[in-house]
Amino acid sequence: MTSLEVSHLEVSFGEKLILDDLSFSLKEGQIAALLGPSGCGKTTLLRSIAGLIQPTAGTIRFGKQLVSLSSLVMPSHKRKIGYVPQDGALFPHLTIAENIAFGLDKSLFTKDQIRHTIKEMLQLIELQGFERRMPSELSGGQQTRVALARALAIKPAIVLLDEPFSALDAELRGDLRSDVIDLLRAHQTTAILVTHDREEALVSADIVALMRDGKIIQQGTPEDVYSLPISPAIAVSTGDALVLSAAQSSDGSTHYLFNSSAAKGSVSSQGQVVIRPEEIKISRTISPDSISGVIAKIDYYGHDAMITISVAHESVMVRIPGPFDFQVGDQVALEHVGPVRYFASSVKD
Ligand code: ATP
Repeated sequence: MTSLEVSHLEVSFGEKLILDDLSFSLKEGQIAALLGPSGCGKTTLLRSIAGLIQPTAGTIRFGKQLVSLSSLVMPSHKRKIGYVPQDGALFPHLTIAENIAFGLDKSLFTKDQIRHTIKEMLQLIELQGFERRMPSELSGGQQTRVALARALAIKPAIVLLDEPFSALDAELRGDLRSDVIDLLRAHQTTAILVTHDREEALVSADIVALMRDGKIIQQGTPEDVYSLPISPAIAVSTGDALVLSAAQSSDGSTHYLFNSSAAKGSVSSQGQVVIRPEEIKISRTISPDSISGVIAKIDYYGHDAMITISVAHESVMVRIPGPFDFQVGDQVALEHVGPVRYFASSVKD
């Protein structure tokens, strides 16, 4: 259990700046999810923390211990990091048991302790009885689970997971993710989970960090980043969002699809409003607070549905819980019942 502080980190490959003055910190036992587009530097950040890349500037601290400064780097094997790289990368010539035990220092543990850890880890990943198999005899998903077990077996101070669940089918993915997060929490292990799955980020982490072009541009609790995004683009990267053109007038009122009243005073800025689909209510009864539209499409997910409604020249997405009796072609009334998140056009990513 340790805290992590990454401060003004810079990593370059040749001329190319990959991590750009990146700062990020986690308290002891916190789990962070790192979300960002492909190529923005997520793996590079993990590899820098693991000691596999030498940063060009900045510092990395585990608790009070400085592990990385441009001239001083603690070698990777001394950092007590459990790292699961994107491809899992098991040792092909070692059995599953040997892979899991690989990072355990044989001079510190008895054979019984090692056997116990292997058993415990195989139970966690639900591969009991696989001790003697070779990696080539396992499916891709099973290999990922063994890579996770190998990282967790050393009871690491920090765990770094680079999209560990992406190759798994939906059911196994959900179960294993929840087991791994429970285990990390039980041992109060500080962890970073890289994912492209925004729901996985929100459900797993204490802190969600949004990364763009080598920088963390917003970080906060899942609730904060979901409900208080710093830009329309960030809103879209943490969940479904409707982005509507809008204007603000000098008296501070916001004018957009759901409030099209004439501006009082002059228009002070043009911009956009962000609405979450669950913040719009639909019914069959028009009220003074509602606008009218026609259902164009229904995407049914079982537990809920996403309904696309044509309103004037806009397509409005509305999430409603099941069961419901709306059909394509129905005329409905829409009411915006959530916060009005206004962003002036000058707000970029
Ligand atoms: P993805 O989500 O696709 O895995 P990522 O956010 O993890 O992407 P990185 O793997 O950190 O991105 O790569 C960031 C950038 O650095 C990319 O442009 C990549 O091509 C480049 N890069 C990564 N490793 C090296 C390397 N060893 N040498 C040169 N360039 C590299």
